[in-house]
Amino acid sequence: MSAEPDGPEDRLRRFATIWSRAVFPVTSTSSTRPEFEARLLPLARRLSEALRARSFDADAGKEAGAALVAEHCTDPEALSRTLDCVDAYLVLYCGEDGDREDLRARSARLQHAMAAGFAQALRERTLAEQEAIAQAALEAQGVVAQALHATEARFRAVFEGAAIGIGIADLEGNVLQVNGALRRMFGLSEQGLRSRNVKDWVHPDDAPQTWRLYEELVSGEREHYHLEKAFHRPDGTVLWTNLTVSLLRDADGEPQYQLALMEDTTERRLLNLRLRYEATHDALTGLPNRTFFFERLEKALGAGEGQRFGLCYLDLDGFKTVNDSLGHAAGDRLLVEVADRLQACATAPGEMVARLGGDEFVALTTGPDTQRTVDELAARIMNALLAPISVDGRELTVRGSIGIVEGPAGERSAAEVLRSADITMYRAKSAGGNRFELADPEADARAITRHGLTTALPTALDRGEFFIEYQPLVHLGDGSVRGAEALVRWLHPQHGVLSPDRFIPLAEHTGLIVPLGRWVLEQSVRQAREWRDRHGGESLGPLRINVNLSPCQLTHPGLVQDTVEILERTGVAPDALCLEVTESALIGADDDLLKPLRRLAEMGVDIALDDFGTGYSNLANLRRLPVSVLKLDRSFTQSMQRFPADPVDLKIVEGIVSLAHSLDLAVTVEGVETGAQAEQLRILGCDTAQGWYYARPGPPDRLHELALVDATG
Ligand code: C2E
Ligand code: MG
Ligand code: MG
Repeated sequence: MSAEPDGPEDRLRRFATIWSRAVFPVTSTSSTRPEFEARLLPLARRLSEALRARSFDADAGKEAGAALVAEHCTDPEALSRTLDCVDAYLVLYCGEDGDREDLRARSARLQHAMAAGFAQALRERTLAEQEAIAQAALEAQGVVAQALHATEARFRAVFEGAAIGIGIADLEGNVLQVNGALRRMFGLSEQGLRSRNVKDWVHPDDAPQTWRLYEELVSGEREHYHLEKAFHRPDGTVLWTNLTVSLLRDADGEPQYQLALMEDTTERRLLNLRLRYEATHDALTGLPNRTFFFERLEKALGAGEGQRFGLCYLDLDGFKTVNDSLGHAAGDRLLVEVADRLQACATAPGEMVARLGGDEFVALTTGPDTQRTVDELAARIMNALLAPISVDGRELTVRGSIGIVEGPAGERSAAEVLRSADITMYRAKSAGGNRFELADPEADARAITRHGLTTALPTALDRGEFFIEYQPLVHLGDGSVRGAEALVRWLHPQHGVLSPDRFIPLAEHTGLIVPLGRWVLEQSVRQAREWRDRHGGESLGPLRINVNLSPCQLTHPGLVQDTVEILERTGVAPDALCLEVTESALIGADDDLLKPLRRLAEMGVDIALDDFGTGYSNLANLRRLPVSVLKLDRSFTQSMQRFPADPVDLKIVEGIVSLAHSLDLAVTVEGVETGAQAEQLRILGCDTAQGWYYARPGPPDRLHELALVDATG
């Protein structure tokens, strides 16, 4: 496999090529496109590394944004194209085998960081330029003053040739002279400008000190001042300038004229506004985005005494189905319509709606009375979603789940509030959706532990916090130990030993189950090998090992190969391994899903149907599945604890056992806690059993002892 056609480096280069093609036309660089691409490549590499780094850090995005400015990509279009390109291709080309959803979230955060880095670098550059201009203006003042005192001809030359706007007025504000640059900036003739008085140029956006500085200057108390100022142009547009005004004195030192030097900053300002807009608004719906929302929420939480906030966190129910069945374009149109409706719900002062990403929206209300207003806001939102939304000629019914958090300002951080809202929204969702729920500190605390466990999971595997206990599988006929089920535990540094029910669902949700499952498989198979080495010669035959598989592991493409590799590496025969899959994971499974299991079964690996009897599988279906063992769920065993056992239950178990045997399946029972149960199950024809009656799950050596006792006893 030496000529790998499409390695990560190739894909990274391809990403850099696409990026450079998109942005090159709007740069003002003097380099060629390939040269430009070569300079984007290290940026692409940083982004790609940040995308896949173990712990995420958005700084790479900031640096890339700043680097764009350094590469003369200062046109807003360059940023816009860059963000589009990163959005569409970064995960595709650089996100190889990570969790898609996580990668998309990281990509979005990188894009935000890039926009922020770009804006900041541009601002710094602008400031540096302004500094240079102010310096030039001061020099020009000296030159102009000299010229005024010298000859008219020299004065004219300096004046007209200047690239920045220059105007001279007397101390009453009457404009005396203006140069060409200034006329062009204002779009006025010399006459038009000269008929004006400086004091007419009041603009609503004037900084508060503007006219005080002016008065100080014309009265001779100040030599010059510098500020940003807006002017009305005759065509109704606004001119923004960097304005430096200096006092000119006559030969005796008496104030005589005022000299204004102006640089047109209108475009730069628009660019900054647009950047700010792009960095704070969602491109699809035009709603404020997460960044903007956080700013507003933080402001609301920092408001003074007596002020409160109320927040509705909305997640659409079943939006994924729309995306999956009608396509992303239809999904987008639906989101736009939802955004419009939401916006109409929050129009009062102190209210806002934002899109946090995907199908998640928030509405915020602030003021002294949010206990009332937030309920009304939530009701308006639910109401707004009632009417179906028409997309591509289909009427789609949209429902949503809302988590509400309300409280006084000054107690919690924005992140805490949002997390509580998120948790509450999930509570609304798991209660069936299409409803709103109010945040509840107790429910939050429970969920936060869950949240804490989820974030601690990935490092737990690296830190070796998981361990495996083994529970013997005993032959009901002769009481001998035939093997063991591997059951994973987590020795959590704070919470102590956690049972798999606490963390397997989280690991499934985050995708960590794949590496964790692989680890369990490898450890258990090694353990089986060790038992064989120490125990192999005895009459019982090799001890078998049962390992549980989660549904997500079934769909993972590496399952067969990983298993084969582990067996080969450890030198354990496939028929010493049994993989347990729950019945529910295989209900309705199609051939694609069954294919890996079938391949493993063909190699000789046993497949057990775990927790059998808890799902609704069609018994006739069993024939289709590549399973060789049924593991009867604990509930059957439990019903046998009563004496006499329920005759109907006995009949059911008997029926299942005989059906299983007729299909050549072995039957194992779980949860055997008493000798009476064991005896009953033996009579019913079950083959092997597992349960506290024989042994609780424990360290591997215990099993060895047990098996030896059985073998000699
Ligand atoms: P399971 O595969 O059905 O495992 C049997 C469960 O029954 C184990 O719980 C075991 O400790 C418990 N048990 C055994 N004998 C008795 C008994 O006599 N009475 C009672 N009441 N319970 C008994 P555990 O260890 O808490 O595991 C729970 C579930 O977690 C397992 O159910 C399995 O589905 C899952 N699990 C455990 N380890 C792994 C793993 O490595 N990977 C995956 N994907 N799932 C695992
Ligand atoms: Mg099991
Ligand atoms: Mg089970």
